[in-house]
Amino acid sequence: MSAIVISGKELAKEKREQMKGEVVELKGKGITPGLAVILVGEDPASQSYVRSKQKSCKEIGIHSELDELPVTISEQELLNKIEVLNKADHIHGILVQLPLPNHISEKAVIEAISPEKDVDGFHPINIGRMMTGQEAFLPCTPYGIVEMIKSKDIDMEGKHVVVVGRSNIVGKPVGQLLLNENATVTYCHSRTKNMRDITRQADILVVAVGKAHFLDQEYIKEGAVVIDVGVNRNNDGKLVGDVVFENAKEVASYITPVPGGVGPMTITMLLHNTIISAKRHIGQE
Ligand code: NAP
Repeated sequence: MSAIVISGKELAKEKREQMKGEVVELKGKGITPGLAVILVGEDPASQSYVRSKQKSCKEIGIHSELDELPVTISEQELLNKIEVLNKADHIHGILVQLPLPNHISEKAVIEAISPEKDVDGFHPINIGRMMTGQEAFLPCTPYGIVEMIKSKDIDMEGKHVVVVGRSNIVGKPVGQLLLNENATVTYCHSRTKNMRDITRQADILVVAVGKAHFLDQEYIKEGAVVIDVGVNRNNDGKLVGDVVFENAKEVASYITPVPGGVGPMTITMLLHNTIISAKRHIGQE
């Protein structure tokens, strides 16, 4: 058996085409969705993520502005910047690129962003709303994963989902979103014992560990859906996932590739959240 590949790249393209139309419609109503991005310091990976987010905004007509701040900025100065953006009428989404320098508390920064503009879905209020099944900005990577599963009409109800990884931005929320879809969810992490016995029970296996080729087909049940969140560089400098794709696709029913899988969907859901926020601003959502 060779698995069907769920292309995040293709799905993202489809969704972004649709979003272009929504932005035109909003502009006709006198509102242009606006995203403010704050980048502290000069970390090359962060710079590249931010550029990619800005380019994507431009492609679909979202206004975006970038505030590049020196690594020496104080926490208070950063909080003041956020406060200005919280009040800015033309800004519907605020994103502070993580990680931040050690002298700035990520918690304080995330909590300073108005929950109504928290398009990353990291604010504890949005996390709480998500957990209680209320309307919330959903965190972009987990949200993108659920959209990828839905795009193939894969039934989640009653399915055993195993999530490997329990980070606040991927592992924990993706499990919660799949629980909201009525799946039965198990988490594995670095202290899990006999992990292979658990992952082999998964109907849907989500791997978000951040280690190149962390698991292969020995960890996968025949016919399982495999979602690979990992983005790693192997020894040749090539981008690879947490899953050994070529060998896992021989046992899985569906699988996401790296690159071109979950990655493109993450930015797509950020654009989606920004549009939703603009719609809410004019009472349309
Ligand atoms: P993270 O914060 O480093 O979390 C990694 C998780 O993996 C932790 O929960 C850790 O467990 C678990 N883990 C580590 N070693 C393990 C082991 N030997 N066995 C079982 N579990 C183990 O990483 P993250 O932010 O969630 O990101 C994970 C990966 O996804 C990274 O490659 C990242 O680049 C990628 N990512 C991709 C996107 C995208 O858009 N495609 C977005 C976000 C992240 P403990 O909690 O016990 O330490």
